[in-house]
Amino acid sequence: MSEGLVNSIYLGAAIMFILALSGLSSNENARRGNLYGMLGMGLAIIATVFSDAVTNYWVILICMTLGSVLGLILARRVKMTQMPQLVAILHSLVGLAAMSVGYATYLDPEIHLLGAEKTIHDIEVYLGIYIGGMTFSGSVIAFGKLSAMINSRPVLLPARHLLNLIMLFVVVYYGFEFVNAENLSDATIPLIVLTVIALVFGVHMVIAIGGADMPVVISMLNSYSGWAAAATGFMLSNDLLIVTGALVGSSGAILSYIMCTAMNRNFFSVIAGGFGKPDVTSSGSTAVAGEAVATSIEEVAQLLSSAKKVMIVPGYGMAMAQAQRAVSDVSRILMGKGVNVIFGIHPVAGRMPGHMNVLLAEAKVPYDVVFEMDEVNDDFPNVDVTLVIGANDTVNPAALDDPGSPISGMPVLEVWKSKMTVVLKRSMATGYAGVDNPLFYKDNTRMLFGDAKSNMDDLVKVLG
Ligand code: NDP
Repeated sequence: MSEGLVNSIYLGAAIMFILALSGLSSNENARRGNLYGMLGMGLAIIATVFSDAVTNYWVILICMTLGSVLGLILARRVKMTQMPQLVAILHSLVGLAAMSVGYATYLDPEIHLLGAEKTIHDIEVYLGIYIGGMTFSGSVIAFGKLSAMINSRPVLLPARHLLNLIMLFVVVYYGFEFVNAENLSDATIPLIVLTVIALVFGVHMVIAIGGADMPVVISMLNSYSGWAAAATGFMLSNDLLIVTGALVGSSGAILSYIMCTAMNRNFFSVIAGGFGKPDVTSSGSTAVAGEAVATSIEEVAQLLSSAKKVMIVPGYGMAMAQAQRAVSDVSRILMGKGVNVIFGIHPVAGRMPGHMNVLLAEAKVPYDVVFEMDEVNDDFPNVDVTLVIGANDTVNPAALDDPGSPISGMPVLEVWKSKMTVVLKRSMATGYAGVDNPLFYKDNTRMLFGDAKSNMDDLVKVLG
């Protein structure tokens, strides 16, 4: 395939990726956005495979077959609740690819560059390995935290900011050494030091971040994976990879900013790992007092039937229980009885951005009854019954009342301001951030213990 044709197809693919991103910005267009993304990727693969850069089709065929089979198995096996950790581990692969390409292009015996060209190429390699390395190790730790293999509490090393600063200086120093290296033996030490520091930095950055701040890390790693892909594009002189990497990198950065604003966090403080917070390892300074009052399906059905306005607030527990369809059924039955039912979604509910919206859309909850936190937070005093389905941190009043709490300052859905709140969960256990929740002990709160799906199924039977 001629270079001109390859570039034209790349341009078409880049346009498809832009259309995909714009489609994904709203629920109604998300399916179309995904189709554009798939088409763009298909075009990109065809153009790359048939370009002059590929000489050995067997290697490509074997790798693509292996990748496709693995991808198919994963797509079939992974449950919706495991998506966040799948995304994290996929980000780690982008980082690993950038690192490998960095080494491969540096060691390629066919690349002979001189002067400014060599310097630029060396900088590309150095940055590619650095961004790739920290994306790889950071994403592996994020995978561990999201799949509960690693504790979600922050691990704060003494003098951690100093440690980061020293690592940065060492990376810059060896960067000069690497660029000035005349041959491979001079470049070996800088490359090894760079790789080790990039890996350590990725681990250090993510383990220092506390449970409730993890959403920012997820979107940040998403952004890093984009920059790692862009760095790979520079090393391989592949324009499409540069454009796509920049798209992913910048949209991830915007998402991180949105998440930080939604959680009332300073972006740099989060990256620095709980910087400036009084005690991020405590579970809150205010002792939770009082007794939680349990309720029954019949009582909740009675409450809901006599309500004029009901707010449903889903959280990670709804995803765990796969209760979204039963929740949708309950809302439909209540709407049929003339009850005004709306949904209130916290921006970081669940384990990935948009988690709840995806589940509710899958369960065919109409988009026009699903509202963001800011749109409904002032509405709670007019709500007769709020149903909290497997949400915990995102409805915790300690975020507003307890300055010593690790989630202090994070905006939450103020469900306790409604006339009655029913919380569906299995026990009195804490949520992802490991913080006690005073909501459960309030006079107007009732606890409906048990699996959210079976409780919602029972509610459907009693109400229907
Ligand atoms: P939480 O993680 O705070 O709480 C979920 C609750 O669901 C638990 O307390 C649990 O209680 C309950 N639960 C679990 N399984 C079931 C079940 N089968 N039936 C009923 N209840 C169940 O959830 P939120 O959505 O409120 O908050 C999300 C948290 O995750 C925040 O701290 C956020 O910062 C963090 N996070 C979010 C990310 C994102 O991008 N959205 C990414 C990473 C972290 P019990 O065990 O008693 O049933």
